[in-house]
Amino acid sequence: MRDITKQKSLEEERDEFISVVSHELRTPITIVEGSLSNLEVLANRKTPPAKDTLTTTISTAHEQVLYLAKMVNDLSTLSRAERGIADAPEEIAVSELLHAMHHQYQRDAEQKGLALDLDLGGKLGKVMASRLYLEELLQNFITNAIKYTTQGSVTIIARSSAGKVMFSVKDTGIGISRSDQNKVFNKFYRSEDYRIRETGGTGLGLYVSTKLARKLHTTIELKSRLNHGSTFSFTLPVEPNDLSK
Ligand code: ADP
Repeated sequence: MRDITKQKSLEEERDEFISVVSHELRTPITIVEGSLSNLEVLANRKTPPAKDTLTTTISTAHEQVLYLAKMVNDLSTLSRAERGIADAPEEIAVSELLHAMHHQYQRDAEQKGLALDLDLGGKLGKVMASRLYLEELLQNFITNAIKYTTQGSVTIIARSSAGKVMFSVKDTGIGISRSDQNKVFNKFYRSEDYRIRETGGTGLGLYVSTKLARKLHTTIELKSRLNHGSTFSFTLPVEPNDLSK
């Protein structure tokens, strides 16, 4: 017998998701459309428009296109994770991976005047995991940490103990209120805080992250205090024959 109730709820969930995505896409598309049609009007004027008006209109459109690109990127990560594409586990040397991530985000942190630190404790060995999923998960935490921190530092941490390695990304940023901590993993959820509203984002990153974590057979832990910073962590088992390295 097929479990029709379950099937229906999955379909319903998909329908609801498509409807929310279309809604979320509509606003930026409307803004880009409006900006472009304004530019057309300005271009056809006899007197050339002020440079400021042009740059503001162009940068509004640009911002929204970047938002759309991020949204498409998040959706494709989500769909890859759900369909199990590129999820073949491979041996990954933890220290090497985290050094590469640290190097990759150094400039983004520097541009915001933040320190990006790497804190690796002891022998970390190797883990068996999909490289793509593990990298995307860490990237989501690191980009958020940089985005939601205005001063101080972001630290990529790894500790191994009892056959497990714990990965953490810690920041000294704006933090997440207790009531928001339950909500930030929901799709399209963004905190009401004005400091969040000032930054661009889709509200999909952490939702995608929970899916990626599930695929990696782990769960995400969040510790945060409003105005003090946040730490996102998860653990993976260390390859058993590798503990000595
Ligand atoms: P986005 O960053 O695109 O808004 P996410 O799903 O990655 O979407 O995050 C959801 C929300 O969680 C953010 O809008 C923000 O309110 C909160 N958040 C995530 N990471 C952090 C962080 N490191 N510090 C403070 N708030 C965070």
